[in-house]
Amino acid sequence: MTASHLSREDLKALIRTVPDFPKPGIQFRDITTLIGHHQGMAASVHHLAELAGAAGAEKIAGMEARGFIFGAAVAVQLGIGFVPVRKPGKLPIDTIGIDYALEYGTDRLEMDPGAIMPGQRVVMVDDLIATGGTALASAELLRQAGAVLENALFVIDLPDLGGAARLREAGIEVNTLMEFEGD
Ligand code: AMP
Repeated sequence: MTASHLSREDLKALIRTVPDFPKPGIQFRDITTLIGHHQGMAASVHHLAELAGAAGAEKIAGMEARGFIFGAAVAVQLGIGFVPVRKPGKLPIDTIGIDYALEYGTDRLEMDPGAIMPGQRVVMVDDLIATGGTALASAELLRQAGAVLENALFVIDLPDLGGAARLREAGIEVNTLMEFEGD
């Protein structure tokens, strides 16, 4: 059986759900078990690369940290470059950054201002979309850097948290490999 024969249902069965992590009431959807499974990882990347290719990706952007795992692999599969969207203070250069609101407090994303050529078509990849706060901030930052950002890909969607809908309202087409109900 080749990797591409693993269906999205098969991939969903490879996600480990850990209740009450990192706090009570959260069902943590853990990709460790998916990426540790050779065919599961290969099929996930295959499906994401097909979507990114169809979107005309010229560069893949991934959010730290789990977006790096899938995003970099998709970029290699498509033969294009990868742009890391990083947590603050990690890049050894002058960066551009964006602050965004969390449930409690704020967070920040940073990137290399020269990573993208003006007008380059960039597709964002991350492991999971929940409220969409991270993805929306990342999209705004990539656009500030000159990207044409019209597509975002996620392995997992938690549709009840509304993130994918928020991205679509911001003019970003969203594709995901699987959904889980609840949060
Ligand atoms: P958000 O900004 O709310 O869309 O959250 C997105 C990020 O938080 C993703 O990159 C995930 O890595 C992480 N995350 C949020 N909720 C979960 C969850 N239930 N299980 C696993 N990761 C989560």
